[in-house]
Amino acid sequence: MRKIIVAIDGYSACGKSTTAKETARILGFRYIDTGAMYRAVTLYFLEHHVSLTNPREVQKALDQIKIGFRVNKEGRSETYLNGLNVEREIREMRISENVSQVSALPAVRHAMVDQQRRMGKERGVVMDGRDIGTVVFPDAELKVFMGADMLVRAFRRQKELLSRDEMVDIDTIIENLRKRDEIDSTRKESPLRKAGDAVELDTTHITIDEQVDEVVRLALARMTRQPNRR
Ligand code: C5P
Repeated sequence: MRKIIVAIDGYSACGKSTTAKETARILGFRYIDTGAMYRAVTLYFLEHHVSLTNPREVQKALDQIKIGFRVNKEGRSETYLNGLNVEREIREMRISENVSQVSALPAVRHAMVDQQRRMGKERGVVMDGRDIGTVVFPDAELKVFMGADMLVRAFRRQKELLSRDEMVDIDTIIENLRKRDEIDSTRKESPLRKAGDAVELDTTHITIDEQVDEVVRLALARMTRQPNRR
């Protein structure tokens, strides 16, 4: 079977990462969480007090940043920033509250997109984010665009934060998701939007297992297809 690129885009907290991770495991592909990359940049910017309105400062900081992924003992991919494991920190609310402002900066996007293209050039990857099917890999063999009702998304995010001992009330989460949706979809540089040839998946009423089954089924259909057919 041929190796393909599976691009999973959509709104936050719709189950993108969980679906992407599991799909990659089943297909034997590499999983790349591009949201984690923007989160790691945000962590660095916050820690180094980088002014987002100063392009030289932003570029200087970007030149200092090295982001990578390593698989841990349990087989889960974790994010590293300049050699340090930041997987836990980048999921905190303080990062969620700043990441959309950071990821809207063209210099940040260019640096991340270059790296993402390098990571996916051998194909055999599942990448999730906001602009994978539209900008990073417009030639991806499978593009999925995920969405879900706001309340369902907020409860899922709250559960995820609770599992890491962070208690955040539901209104704060809804406000954060709304704000990020707004910034992510209206920014000038590669805004969040569905690619014309993406398969839409509404995850409001389906389980993670059902989401994974659907994406794996779609991927297998493309992997067994002749390369010149989409
Ligand atoms: O997927 P996750 O919610 O972790 O992404 C965090 C943020 O990173 C998004 O709200 C968005 O601002 C940014 N992002 C992006 N492009 C991507 C992935 C994430 O702008 N490909």
